[in-house]
Amino acid sequence: MTDKEPPLFTDLPAPEIAGFPYVGRLIIRDTFNACKSCGNLFFNLTEPKGPHSYGLRCGQCGKHAGWIGKAEAEDIPHLLAYP
Ligand SMILES: [Zn+2]
Repeated sequence: MTDKEPPLFTDLPAPEIAGFPYVGRLIIRDTFNACKSCGNLFFNLTEPKGPHSYGLRCGQCGKHAGWIGKAEAEDIPHLLAYP
């Protein structure tokens, strides 16, 4: 087991980052925002970086799939796969 590849489709609590409580959580996005590589709609939220509130990692192919800004981050409670 390596640390480099996180398990797919996890919804386990990650180490808590102040102000970013949803790191590690799984969200569902609409088809407009599907993974460009595999078409999957489930994404794990990754750690904030720079101006971005969260990163997105595809829950199926594991590829980085963009960023969540402040405005969209406010909708995260409604997007959680397992609220
Ligand atoms: Zn994908």
